[in-house]
Amino acid sequence: KRTPLVAGNWKMHKTPAEAGNFVKLLRESVDQQGGSVEVIVCPPFPALAAVASKLAGSEIGWGAQNMHWEAKGAFTGEVSAPMLQAMGCHYVILGHSERRGHFGENDEVIRKKLTAAITCGLRPIFCLGEDLATREAGQAVEHCRKQLRAGLEGLELNQPLALVVAYEPIWAIGTGKTATAEDAVEVISALRQEIADMYGEEFASIMRILYGGSVSPESISSFMKEEMIDGVLVGGASLDIDKFTAIIQTT
Ligand code: 13P
Repeated sequence: KRTPLVAGNWKMHKTPAEAGNFVKLLRESVDQQGGSVEVIVCPPFPALAAVASKLAGSEIGWGAQNMHWEAKGAFTGEVSAPMLQAMGCHYVILGHSERRGHFGENDEVIRKKLTAAITCGLRPIFCLGEDLATREAGQAVEHCRKQLRAGLEGLELNQPLALVVAYEPIWAIGTGKTATAEDAVEVISALRQEIADMYGEEFASIMRILYGGSVSPESISSFMKEEMIDGVLVGGASLDIDKFTAIIQTT
């Protein structure tokens, strides 16, 4: 049985002080719950150090929201995998539709980033998902399969917990409109089959695949009752301590 993962993607929200206060409260609630669910938060870069220090010795993990694929160099404004790794960072969100949409990241860029993260011992949360037109054209499953294959092409993996995939339909992000659990299961099952074809059945049975897109305290149970869905990537609701802890408690 896979341990469920609840990951908060804070996007461009919270100062270091706000982030530190938030995780202090989160820790009080999660450390009591005792390990049946893995919880992580992904703050913006300037808040990582504050979060890391407040979470020292806690069960709660943390991650970044982006990184460059090169280890160092003349890339003004960028942050590398070894830099994050040296801070003690555990996870990094890669391939998010906001990075693809607003910052022009394509499958090739994402593939390079995934490779750099894995090589450095960071665990990527590899996001993919279709837009509304693709879903309405009946192409959602095929589109997601292709994104998965393109991102992982040539990547050798032997540790199934070193990669997390997150299915995030673009039309469900920040819209209050979630996918049905049935739609999510359809795509996630296809992705798991694809992973089995690439890395073997056993690998695919251990690796976690999350759902993301308008997850709330109200919608969480519909996803978590599905054996195929191994947790959630939460945006807006992860910024609110009451909502985020309610989601964790229901997972
Ligand atoms: P919302 O939960 O705000 O829809 O965001 C989802 C998301 O993009 C998480 O990465």
